[in-house]
Amino acid sequence: MGRVEGRGLSNHWDTIQYLETLGFKISQYVELCHDVEQVKAYYHRLLETRNDLPYDIDGIVIKLNEFELQERLGELSRSPRWAVAWKFPPQQETTRVEDILVSVGRTGALTPVAILEPVRVGGVEVSRATLHNEDEVKKKDVRTGDTVTIQRAGDVIPEVVNVILSKRTGREKKFTMPGKCPVCGSKVERPEGEAIHRCTGIACPAQIKENLAHFVSRGAMDMDGLGFKFLEQMVDKKLISDQADLFFLEKEDVMKMDRMGDKLAENLLNAIDKSRSPSLTNLIFALGIRNVGYHLADVLAKNFRSIDNLAKQSIDDLTEVHEIGPIVAESIYNFFHNPKNLKVLEKLKKGGVKFPKEKVVAKKTPLSGKTFVLTGGLESLTRDQARKMIEDLGGRVSSSVSKKTDFVVVGADPGSKYDKALQLKVKTLDEEEFKKLIGK
Ligand SMILES: [Zn+2]
Repeated sequence: MGRVEGRGLSNHWDTIQYLETLGFKISQYVELCHDVEQVKAYYHRLLETRNDLPYDIDGIVIKLNEFELQERLGELSRSPRWAVAWKFPPQQETTRVEDILVSVGRTGALTPVAILEPVRVGGVEVSRATLHNEDEVKKKDVRTGDTVTIQRAGDVIPEVVNVILSKRTGREKKFTMPGKCPVCGSKVERPEGEAIHRCTGIACPAQIKENLAHFVSRGAMDMDGLGFKFLEQMVDKKLISDQADLFFLEKEDVMKMDRMGDKLAENLLNAIDKSRSPSLTNLIFALGIRNVGYHLADVLAKNFRSIDNLAKQSIDDLTEVHEIGPIVAESIYNFFHNPKNLKVLEKLKKGGVKFPKEKVVAKKTPLSGKTFVLTGGLESLTRDQARKMIEDLGGRVSSSVSKKTDFVVVGADPGSKYDKALQLKVKTLDEEEFKKLIGK
């Protein structure tokens, strides 16, 4: 409720009733309770009839009625103290696992799914339940043929809770994650530190729509007007099966899409045509290499200057670059060693996409290649401002002093880094000297 004039509303209940007189729809299950016993009775009544509701609920919310009391209780950062949820227990059933399949999501994530003997849980027939990931399957030791407890809570996807070990016959089959994507056959990878296996194929139909949406987006190939709905249709109608196919579309192909007109088709083809000369950064970003966002695409463009050169680098070469860690290096390396990805790159060239070569810009800035360490407080700059100024001028900031450090900027109350600088005879700068160096 915003501003209300000529009517004093002092509690939640009256407010809801008032809203109804104004024509708003209110829930027919709202009830005013006068003590805790009434709240409990309401909870149990609703728990018994929850499956008759036309929608899923996972519990009730109890609110304090009087506004004045609400105000006195106040709010925590994310939730009021005067409203509290009382969740229903999840609904459980037992059934048999007929098979364990792997589904591939739009991001290439492989999820093991239990195919179940159909069973009704809370009024809904369930025949599949998620097993989340490989670790989860192992932890719960779910095998094909097992009898399991499954549960659903609200509209969340049903999941397997546990195996009923006493029902084991010895004929159950253990699950192993496939090494190849069940949809496209590309190698499956589990990135270090992650629980999820992923398909590495850029042309995987399960991932293609997601990849396409990224490919055409701003900062990537920037194809104006080519929304997700269009891309989806193009894939479903088999007009395209990878990014490169976009550059081979003819007008008659585009006209096959629903609600397509002459003018719109031409606009789309124009947008595709215009994107044939991307900058190197945009092109690298557009490829959708895992862990390579726009900023890193820019770093790679500046360091390697062409796609062909980037593709040749070893993992060690890649990690030589400041800001490229081993995980990123590995995903770049794997990307350019996946034959399917290389085929798409070739096709992009054939489709008329220009692969730019960045000239070696010998941008001589006063600080290029220099390493700084900051210690102590500066008077006129925050640490972050100082860091940004150094980086803008081509230098970089490190957190520890070594022989490779060029300058240690020493502010008030410097720490042990100052002692280290003296010990290693690294050039130190006070705030004034630093500001002179950066031209401030
Ligand atoms: Zn795949």
